[in-house]
Amino acid sequence: MRPINLVLLGPPGSGKGTQAELLRDELRFQHYSTGEVFRDHIKRKTTVGLEVEEYVISGRLVPDEVVLEVVNAFLAEHAGKPVVFDGFPRTIPQAEGLDQVLGGHDQNVDCAVLIDLSDEEVVKRLTSRRQCRKCRKIYNLYFMPPEVAGKCDECGGELYQRDDDKEETIRDRLGVYHSQTEPLVEFYQDKSVLERIPGEIGRDRVFTDLKQLIGTLSPDPDQEQPGI
Ligand code: ADP
Ligand code: ZN
Repeated sequence: MRPINLVLLGPPGSGKGTQAELLRDELRFQHYSTGEVFRDHIKRKTTVGLEVEEYVISGRLVPDEVVLEVVNAFLAEHAGKPVVFDGFPRTIPQAEGLDQVLGGHDQNVDCAVLIDLSDEEVVKRLTSRRQCRKCRKIYNLYFMPPEVAGKCDECGGELYQRDDDKEETIRDRLGVYHSQTEPLVEFYQDKSVLERIPGEIGRDRVFTDLKQLIGTLSPDPDQEQPGI
């Protein structure tokens, strides 16, 4: 497959992380989630971790320079592979920064997919989200409950509610999304790489639509017309 750089846009809780995991498992994309990267730094108490901790806990955006620093480090190693960016870029400067870094590797954002969801649905979904402490798998008490309450199906780890999934924090994150991240929809629309999928159709149908989209981006090389 030709190396595709895919950006997933959408409010918190729209299922970006879930779709990115499916793309990783089924289509061998590198899944790059800045949120996961930051949580990992915080857990390991690295310099970056200490720098970003209060932002992540309160649901505010980490400063663009810090975000671009970790993305740079990632792309230095992985540019040229199919990558799905989940939770990044979150601001116009981050999107411009991404274009710049990718450009340095002769790459660009091939497609930005907006998984759209209403604020009401976001709040309902996120207050019922739980994550495994050990393997990080994400559950939802409504849509994807674990077999045994409070326990991870995969590894038996304890399920917990992330601090940034409490209702008040979710309202704050939605405010941040609308003011800082939503402008990216127009940014990518102007570059003619924006696609939209309604989040309400559910995980499986969103994934079907996504795969179809990716198929149109990466035609089977055997079927390509030879150049004249
Ligand atoms: P979500 O549940 O919305 O997908 P993430 O796991 O992506 O949340 O991110 C959790 C937190 O990490 C954010 O609320 C923010 O503080 C920080 N963060 C993650 N990615 C970025 C980014 N690209 N720019 C700024 N802050 C970020
Ligand atoms: Zn687990």
